[in-house]
Amino acid sequence: MPIAIAIDGPASSGKGTVARAVAHLLGYRYVDTGAMYRAVALVARQHEVSWDDGPTLGKLAAGLRFDFAWDEDVLRVWVDGRDLTRDIRQDGMSMGASSVSRHPEVRTALLGLQQGLGAQGGVVMDGRDIGTVVLPHAQLKVYLDASLDERARRRHEEMVRRGEVVHYDDVRAAMEIRDRQDATRDVAPLRVADDAVVVDTSDLAVPAVVRRIRDLAAERGA
Ligand code: C5P
Repeated sequence: MPIAIAIDGPASSGKGTVARAVAHLLGYRYVDTGAMYRAVALVARQHEVSWDDGPTLGKLAAGLRFDFAWDEDVLRVWVDGRDLTRDIRQDGMSMGASSVSRHPEVRTALLGLQQGLGAQGGVVMDGRDIGTVVLPHAQLKVYLDASLDERARRRHEEMVRRGEVVHYDDVRAAMEIRDRQDATRDVAPLRVADDAVVVDTSDLAVPAVVRRIRDLAAERGA
């Protein structure tokens, strides 16, 4: 039976890579909810809407049409027909996404869409509030964690690989601020769902994490 798998955790805990691999193994759909918040931040910037203006951001988010498709190993994201795959990954959009996602109006606008994508099961969805808010009845909830140092190291490595010139200390500091903002906001803060399995990936290679989740999914009927 196709089940719903929720994967939450802080920045660079490995959610995206792991969720994608698990979805591929099980033949499930992968939904990257962070990409939606990133897109709202980017489109707001393009329309000169402030990241502090919840009501206007909510209206903007409610009007966006998202399309996702795989292109080799890259999940391409179109918003209203425009390919924003690369632009939403710019470093400024990490903080932008965290800023716009604080607003209840924005979360409400995206919630129905996310729940619709998860309704039939056969889905691996990653984010911050998937197990707690978006898919509270998911058959499997995983919370991926890793030390701040390790997560900052991963993010720094990824940015350097993309050709960006950044210092590890700056990456680490920005990540710490973003995590705190995500974990302390009033609506849908990042937290471990009561029935989630916590997996610390600090010292685990991706294939080991993927196997662990695949085994858990099999136990839950996948
Ligand atoms: O996962 P990613 O780093 O792309 O997410 C960017 C930001 O979007 C997070 O820092 C968080 O503020 C927000 N987010 C959220 N809820 C989700 C997914 C992402 O608030 N389900």
